[in-house]
Order: sequence, then C-alpha cells, then structure tokens
Amino acid sequence: MYRTEIPDSVIFFEETKTLASKLADILANYSDTEKPLLICGQNSYKELAHSVLEQLNPNKLNLEVSPAIEEILEPEFDFQGYSKSNSPVIAIGGGKILDYAKYLTFKTGRLLISIPSNASHDGIFSPISVISGLSLGSKRPDYLLIPLNILKKAPVISIQSGIGDLIANFTAIYDASLSKAIKHEAISEEALFLSYSASKAITDMIYEYCNADRLTSFLSNNTEKRKILLEALFRSYTFLKQFIHSLVLSGIAMDMAKSSRPCSGSEHMISHAIDKLYGHGVKATHGIQVAVASNYIIEKQIKSLQNLSQSLPPHLAEALQRDFQTYKLDFNIDELLFLLSMPRNFQDIGIKEEEIPQILELAPTTRAGKFSVLTLLTENLQTHN
Ligand SMILES: [Zn+2]
Repeated sequence: MYRTEIPDSVIFFEETKTLASKLADILANYSDTEKPLLICGQNSYKELAHSVLEQLNPNKLNLEVSPAIEEILEPEFDFQGYSKSNSPVIAIGGGKILDYAKYLTFKTGRLLISIPSNASHDGIFSPISVISGLSLGSKRPDYLLIPLNILKKAPVISIQSGIGDLIANFTAIYDASLSKAIKHEAISEEALFLSYSASKAITDMIYEYCNADRLTSFLSNNTEKRKILLEALFRSYTFLKQFIHSLVLSGIAMDMAKSSRPCSGSEHMISHAIDKLYGHGVKATHGIQVAVASNYIIEKQIKSLQNLSQSLPPHLAEALQRDFQTYKLDFNIDELLFLLSMPRNFQDIGIKEEEIPQILELAPTTRAGKFSVLTLLTENLQTHN
C-alpha cells in the first residue's frame, strides 16, 4: 500500500485573513527590495487578490508586472530577464492563470505560490500546463494556498468539471493497464494507485452522500431538488477539502509517472479531438468532455478486456485481469453523472450520433504513440474492412 497524503505545502484556509498572513510569512524570507511577481486575472483580483494584498506589508505591494500570457510562448521571449529575480511568483486565479505561472516558474526557476480561485481540473498541482492548446512541461507549485471561503462560491459547473476530470482517471488507468499488457509499457504502479485513490475517494464521498436518506430525492427526476442537494454538498468544506486533495493527488501521480498517463487516456484524446473539431470549450468544459468520453469508452475497455483474456498469453491476460480488479470501478459512470446532474453522453453536449466516428478517428492522432483502447478499436476496424 502506498501513502496517499498530500504535502504540507498544500494548506487550507477558511478566511482570507489567515491566508494572507501565511503568504506574508512566506514573503518575509525575501528582502523588501525583491519584488514578488503577481500574476492574476481581472476577476480574481476583484474576488480575492485585492483583499489578500491589502493585508500584506505595504512594501510587499511593490509588485513586478507580469508579461502577457501570449508573450511567453514566443520563441524569442526573454525568460532570462525574469530569472534574475530571486523573489517568488504569486499566482491568483483560475486554471489559465495558474498554468501560465507554472510554466513561467519552470522556465525561470522562481518559487511559485499558487492560490486557486476555482478548481475545475487536475492541473492545480500537476507538472503540466496547457497554454494555447499546447501541453507544456511545467513546475508544481511550491505552495498551494487554498481559500475554501472562495472555492465554496465557485460556480457548480467548475466543481462538476473537476469531478469529471477525476472520473477520467478510471478509464485512463484501464488504458495504462492495456498498454502495460500489450505494449509492455513501463508505468509506475504507485502513480496508478495514487490516481485511483484520488478518484475513488471523491466518488465514494459522493455516493455516501447520495446513499443517506437523500437518495430518494437524488434519484428522483426532480431536477430542482437535486440541484439544491448538490449545491449543499459542493459548498461543504469537508467535500471541498477532499476534492482538492484528490486533484492534488492526481497531480502528484502525473509527476511520479513523468507523464500524464495515470490521469489521461482515450477519454482525454476524445476530448482533444472534440476541441480540434469544434473549437476549445465550444461543446463543453474540459472536465465535462472527458467525463462524457469516459462514460462512452468504459464499455469498450471492458469488452477489450474480455476479448484479450482469450487472445493474450495467459500470464499477460492474468496480469490484465488483476489490474482491472485492483483498480475496480464499483459504480456505474452513467449513474454517477446522472446523480451529479452532468451531461452523460455526446448528444447531451450537442454532438450528433453520426459525428462520433469522425471524433473517434481523430482522437488517437491527438496524442500519437500513446496506446489506448482506441488503438485496438482502430485495428479492429481495419481488419474488418
Ligand atoms: Zn484533464
């Protein structure tokens, strides 16, 4: 059994005041002449950053201005200029801002203090940033300060998206298992276990909540009632702490595997294909798309497991069976999405039945060389044609 604790540098706060005082403590290690670099979106500034900064030592408000997001992707961008300062980078905002800060600090070697104003995917603690559609090697934050009082106000859709990205871990792990058995890909078992534990902890918590006396209302088709119950769950600190814990564990799993493998498989490739065909975020958020794709692909994976059990050499077939047992999915993804009032299939996000083959064809090319159940499906199609 592996350890599933998260580092001490991930700290939860229920009040902005205590978060600001922790930030001041960290900054106290740096001289007043070294300006921290603040990276912050406009909305996050209004919502959170100004109240954090107000409570800091006025000298620390002497902030450096950050370069524009588009600028740092230019090949001639002068990271050297930003590497000279020894002072920390403080990133306050949503996924885009935090990804940008992770990339900039990776390139400059500066300390990163990350303060998320919402968490809609597993990028908050991963060593990967997605900037302008590119997945770039990045740095994990040195400190992750979590303002629970702000997160509880985040839109329901952002929490649903984050859960969607965690549901994706299950199918990503099955793709990893298939690749281990068929392609003999070496993948850290501990990384797969962390990814599984992350997702299992949050789905267990959701089921526990639904299985209490609220179940009847949850399962009923009374959408309004379900919405109220969901909001109550998403706003509770116990849930939010586990939610962040799970997203952080996913990030650690990717860092450990030195790739996104434990948390991203065929369902992510399908989502990338949807982005390519219809535009990024046009059909749904990243987390919603991967959840819908997981719901679609899980049956194909289970079917492949059954077929391969007959065709693979016995020791590999057994290893594969064992993996599916170790990383067992003890609930139905479709039912979970229903309970969470999330889209469940392609039609729910505005994709017609006849458009699916094109998506499936494009999906494996979005991450060429990454083996998944999609490779098996494509091979099957080719042998039958
Ligand atoms: Zn993802």
